[in-house]
Amino acid sequence: MNRRPSFPARLDSTPAPAAGRAPAAPAKLPAVPGGVGLDSQVVRARMVQRLAAQGIRDQRVLAAMGVVQRHRFVDTALVNQAYEDTSLPIGLAQTISKPSVVARMIELLLGDANAPRLGRVLEIGTGCGYQAAVLSQVAAEVYSIERLRGLHDKARDNLRPFRLPNVHLLFGDGMAGYARGAPYAGIIAAAGGEAVPRAWCEQLGLGGRIVAPTVMAGGQQALVVIEKTSAGLQQSVLEAVNFVPLKSGIA
Ligand code: SAH
Repeated sequence: MNRRPSFPARLDSTPAPAAGRAPAAPAKLPAVPGGVGLDSQVVRARMVQRLAAQGIRDQRVLAAMGVVQRHRFVDTALVNQAYEDTSLPIGLAQTISKPSVVARMIELLLGDANAPRLGRVLEIGTGCGYQAAVLSQVAAEVYSIERLRGLHDKARDNLRPFRLPNVHLLFGDGMAGYARGAPYAGIIAAAGGEAVPRAWCEQLGLGGRIVAPTVMAGGQQALVVIEKTSAGLQQSVLEAVNFVPLKSGIA
């Protein structure tokens, strides 16, 4: 039984697929019955063009951004803004990151590797589950941890219809990482802390990368990339960003 509200006309002029008829589905991600059809694909394709124009080069990232239906992760009242380059509220004072930032961070996470997809990835801050869905397209396994029960539940509801067997949602404090899934090929944080927790560095595999917004001296957040090489951890500080705070404990 589909209890989702119908989609505004701007994005959806296509009727929901009739029962028993296969909806137009992108590779790997099953189309969600009752969702938008081809029109949202067009709007997403435009978003992907803008991302490419802004400098996102990795075809794996652009393809993933083109496939995941971002409008299904935001409240009905915000659906018209789902493909604009803006962060949006998802409840409990948290936000879904803007598409350009999601794409940029995942591009950094993937690095220059020619492998078709990354191995196991840990995401800190599931939020509404959108970035986890994008990660599911570029990584073999996605462990995503959220400290707010309400959002953990929301992400589970949001992701259920997509049936992504490689996404594993965890409820807990991501500051401690998730040792049982380690070592990770990549760790990506959607919330900014004062420093990158030691546990993340320990749980990162050799050759892996951490991409995390981190508060710099002066209070401004910047994207930090940490690579684990045989010579040790190498850190780069990149552009300024604006994420919700990384907090400890659960609620
Ligand atoms: N990737 C998310 C963005 C969510 S915003 C999306 O696509 O929607 C960042 C999230 O990080 C918030 O939901 C916040 O509750 C969560 N968060 C902050 N500190 C955390 C911690 N220590 N462990 C797990 N989640 C945390």
